[in-house]
Amino acid sequence: MRYENEKLNQIYAKTDGYCHICHKKLALSNYGVNGAKGSWHVEHSKPKAKGGTDHMNNLYAACISCNIEKGTSHTKTARAKNGNTRAPYSKEKKQKIKTNNTVGGATIGSGIGWAIGGPVGGLVGGLIGGAIGSSNSPKK
Ligand SMILES: [Zn+2]
Repeated sequence: MRYENEKLNQIYAKTDGYCHICHKKLALSNYGVNGAKGSWHVEHSKPKAKGGTDHMNNLYAACISCNIEKGTSHTKTARAKNGNTRAPYSKEKKQKIKTNNTVGGATIGSGIGWAIGGPVGGLVGGLIGGAIGSSNSPKK
């Protein structure tokens, strides 16, 4: 099946360019190029043979090998084989989590800082807490 470039971009962006099964980085420009580095296919989370649709929420980027190996088995099963429980996050989603972690970390940190050293301690604690929150953010 052929996909419009725009749709391919959307599917690729859904997982920020990572295979949704093994979480390996894919190369957008190598779509369908068998044997190329980061080559990938559009994978139907629910196989078409089992009634899956071409709707965006059923489409994911996957390595060609993952796609073939998965066949008609469950997405959950295929991911579990690679030690994964979910699809990689999109850029937007990661950004959101990062912001939440940073804000959460900063709040906790400044609370600790205030307890130790008043306003200056609060500021320093906030910075440290924010940094900790950020570094806890998922990479994919
Ligand atoms: Zn893969």
